[in-house]
Amino acid sequence: MQKTPRTDDATNRRLWRLVGPVVVGGSAAVLTALSSFAEHPTAVAGLAVLAIVLVGNGFAVIDVRIRSVSDGIVPTTAVITLAAVFLPAPAMILGTACGAFLSQLSRRATDPMKIGFNVGKDTIGATAAIAAASAVGTSPILLDTTFSVFAVIPGLFAAFVAYMLVDEIVSHALFSIITGKPFRQLILAQVDFTIITRLGLFAVALATVLAYGISEWLLLVLPPLVSAIHLAAANQLRTRQGNEAWQRLAEATDEFNSVDETAVLYAAVRRATDIFSTDQAEVEIHPPSGESRLVRSNGSEILYDGPPGEAPAAEGYLIPIALESYRGDGDLGQLRLRFRGSGPVRFTEREQYTLRTFTAALCTAIRNAATFAETQRLADSHARAAAQDPLTRLANRRRLQQYGNDILAGQAGVVGVLLIDLNHFKEVNDTLGHAEGDRVLLAVAERLTAAARPGDLVARFGGDEFAVLLAGLSAPAIAELRAHAMLDALGPPIELDDMRISVEASCGVTTGTGGSVGELLRRADIALYQAKQDGQRVVVYAQARDTADVNSLTLGGDLARAISEHQFIVHFQPIVDLASGRVIAAEALTRWQHPDQGPLSPDRFLGAIERSGQLAAFADAVLDQALIAVTDWADAGHQIPVAVNVSPRSLLDPSFPDAVARRLSARGVPASALVIELTESVTLSKLEVVDEVLAALRDQGIRLALDDFGTGFSSLATLARVPVDELKIDRSFVSAMNASAPGAVVRSTIDLGRSLDLLVVAEGVEREDQRQQLWELGCPAGQGHLFARAMPADRLLAHLNRGEGHLADPLHDTGAVIRMSRSRRARRMSLGAEPPPGREKST
Ligand code: C2E
Ligand code: CA
Ligand code: CA
Repeated sequence: MQKTPRTDDATNRRLWRLVGPVVVGGSAAVLTALSSFAEHPTAVAGLAVLAIVLVGNGFAVIDVRIRSVSDGIVPTTAVITLAAVFLPAPAMILGTACGAFLSQLSRRATDPMKIGFNVGKDTIGATAAIAAASAVGTSPILLDTTFSVFAVIPGLFAAFVAYMLVDEIVSHALFSIITGKPFRQLILAQVDFTIITRLGLFAVALATVLAYGISEWLLLVLPPLVSAIHLAAANQLRTRQGNEAWQRLAEATDEFNSVDETAVLYAAVRRATDIFSTDQAEVEIHPPSGESRLVRSNGSEILYDGPPGEAPAAEGYLIPIALESYRGDGDLGQLRLRFRGSGPVRFTEREQYTLRTFTAALCTAIRNAATFAETQRLADSHARAAAQDPLTRLANRRRLQQYGNDILAGQAGVVGVLLIDLNHFKEVNDTLGHAEGDRVLLAVAERLTAAARPGDLVARFGGDEFAVLLAGLSAPAIAELRAHAMLDALGPPIELDDMRISVEASCGVTTGTGGSVGELLRRADIALYQAKQDGQRVVVYAQARDTADVNSLTLGGDLARAISEHQFIVHFQPIVDLASGRVIAAEALTRWQHPDQGPLSPDRFLGAIERSGQLAAFADAVLDQALIAVTDWADAGHQIPVAVNVSPRSLLDPSFPDAVARRLSARGVPASALVIELTESVTLSKLEVVDEVLAALRDQGIRLALDDFGTGFSSLATLARVPVDELKIDRSFVSAMNASAPGAVVRSTIDLGRSLDLLVVAEGVEREDQRQQLWELGCPAGQGHLFARAMPADRLLAHLNRGEGHLADPLHDTGAVIRMSRSRRARRMSLGAEPPPGREKST
C-alpha cells in the first residue's frame, strides 16, 4: 500500500523532464531574439501590437480542467500564424513571449512552473512558426514593400503547421504525464475537433492576409471573426464533454448495480477519478454494523483498502462529499476527490450536478450492499438454527430426518433409530428450576455424543427427548445393544454444583433398511411408549403391538360424519400485547370431540383430514365457527380479530379464496377481522397456484401470518415471496430462551419483523421472565400458557368482559421511563380465578 508516494514522485520527475526543456528552449529563443532585436527598430510597433492581441486573447479563454490543471483554449493559432508572416523574427518571438506572459498574469496564474511552461511553449511554437515561414522563402510583410498574396500563402501555411505541431505535441505530452494516459490515445481522442478548430483559425489568418492585400482597414474585421469561430468551437467542446460525462456517469451507475460491497466501492473510486478528472478518489464508509473501511484509487489501480486509521497519508487539495441519503437516515461516510497541488479546483455547474447524481447512486448502492449482506447473515443464522437444537447445539428433528433419509437412499446396511426419553425430568425442572434443568440436558447431550460412533447422529427433539440415528449397522440386533450402551453412558450421576443427580431414561428402538425416517421415528415412538408403560429400559419395536395404523384408518372413516355432526369444536387462545396485557387477537385451534376416544388434538387428526378429501369442508367448518366467535365478541364490544390456521393443502385449492369470501359475507364479518396463519412448507415456496391463492386472499383485505417462523429452511426465501403482515416465532425458540441468551432466532426474527414493519408474535410464552425478555427485545405480542390456554369462545368472552380486554397486568407503570422488571411483584391474573379488584367492571 506504499504506492501513493512512489506514483507521485515518478509523475513529478517526468513533469520536470518536460517542463525543464520547454522553459530552457523558450528562454534561449527570447535571448537570441533580444540580441538581434536592435537591428529591426521598426519592429517595435509590431511587437507591441502582437503582445496586446495575445493578452486580449487571454480573455477569450475557454477553461478546460484536466485534473488540477486548468487549461485554456485560446485562439492563439491565428495570431501567431499571422505574426509569422508580418513581423521580423526577433519582434515576433519577443512579442509572443511578452504576450503569453501577460496573458498568464491576466488569468491570475501564480504557479511559476505553469507560467514558465505556457510561456516557453508559445515562444518555442512562435520560433518554429517563423523558422518554417522563412524556410519556404517568405519574408516579413512589414519589411517588404512589394506585397504579393501568392508569395505569402506558402509561408502562412508553413507557420500554421509548425505552430500547431509544437502546441499539440507539447500540450498533450503534459496531459499524458498528468493523467497517466498514453500520449497517442490523448491526441487521437481529440484529433477531429483539433483539426476543424485549427483550420478555422487558419482560414481567419488567410482571410486577414487577403483583406490586407485589398486594404489595411479591412483588418478591423479580424477580431469579430475570430470571436465567432472561437465561440462556436467552445460550444462544441462543452457539448462534447457534457455528453461524455453523462455516458460515463451512466456506465458508473450501471456498475453500482452490484450487491457486493467491495465491487461497489472499487467501482466508485475508479469511476470518480475518471468522471471528475481527479488524481485520486477515496470512499470511507462507516456501516452501522461492521467496521469502517477506506478504499482509495488513482483511477488505474486500488492504492489502499482497509481501516481508515491505517491508510498512508495523502497530500493534495481535497473536495469531501458527505454520503447522505435523501431519506436522512444518517450518513454512510464520505467520498473524497483529491487533486495534486494546493488548489483550489472549482467544479462547473454541470460537474456539480454530475457529482450529486453520482453520490446519490453510490449511497443507494452502498445501502443495498449492506442490506444484502445483512439478509445473507440472517439467512445463514436461520439455516443453522433450523438444523440445530438451540440449547444443546445437537441436530434437531428436521436435521435428523434429512440425514437419515439421505443415508437410507444412498447406503447399504441397516439403519437404526433410538428414541430416548428421560424419566422424571419434569421433577428436576420443577424442583431445581429451568437453569439447572438445562444443565442436566447439556450433560445428557454430551454423554450421548461421547457414546456415539462415527456416522451416528445425536439429536434433541425438544424437552427431554433425544434421538440417535445409527448408520451402517451390520445386523438389526446390534441396535438394541447400542441402545443399552447409550443408556449406560447416562448411568453415572451428573454433578451440579453441590448436587448429584442420577438420570434414568427409557429408549425405543427400531431398525430398517429402506423407507423413510419418518416411519422409523413413528415406530421408535411406539416402542418408547411401550417402554414407559411397562417400566422397561429398552423396547424394540414389534409390528404386532402397533395399533397406530388401525387407529388412523378408523379416524379416516369417521371424518365425514364428524364434520356433519359438528364433532370438531374450535377453541380460542388469546394473543396479548406483551406490554399492557391487553388481548389483541385470538387464534382458533381445533379439537375433535371424538365419541369414543374423547378429545383429540390436531396433531392426531390433521393428517387424516388432509388425505381424506374432506379438507375443504373441514376448513370451512372451522372458519365458520371462528367467524361466529368474532361476531359474538364484537357484539359485546371487543373488536378483536381471529387468526385461523390453514393447511398448506388448502393453498393449493384455487377455490379456497372464494370459499373464504363467501363465509365472510355470510357472517357479515369484515375481511380485516381475519388473519390466516400459514406454515412454511415446500408448497408455500414453490407453486404458482399458491401465489394466486395468497394474492386473492390479500386482495380481499385478509391479513397473512407466517406461523412457526424460523423452523423452516426457507424462512427468508418464503418471506421474500409471500407478502405477509405478521411473523409468529415458533414456541421451540421461545422455550429455549434463557436469561443469558435470548437465542439468535428470536432476536433476529424480532429485528427482521421490525425492519419489514411486520407484527411479531411470540408463541408458547409460559413464564413471566420470557414475557419481560421478549418485550425488551422489541417483540410486541405473545401468546401462551402464561396468559391463557385455548378455551371455548364464550369463556374467552367472559374473561374479556371481566378484565376489560386485559388478561395480564401491564409490564410496567404507564409513563415509567426506565424499563424495570416488575415480574416479581406482578400479579398474574390466572384464568378462572377472580380478577384483581382494580379491573372489576364498575357497573
Ligand atoms: P400452532 O399454530 O403453532 O398453534 C399453537 C399450538 O401451541 C397449539 O397447539 C397451542 O395449544 C399450543 N400452545 C399455545 N401456547 C402454548 C404454551 O405456552 N406452551 C405450549 N407448550 N404450547 C402452547 P394445538 O392446539 O395442539 O395445535 C397444534 C397445531 O395444529 C397448531 O400449531 C396448528 O398448526 C395446527 N392446527 C390447530 N388447529 C388447526 C385448524 O383448525 N386447521 C389447521 N389446518 N391446523 C390447525
Ligand atoms: Ca398457528
Ligand atoms: Ca405456531
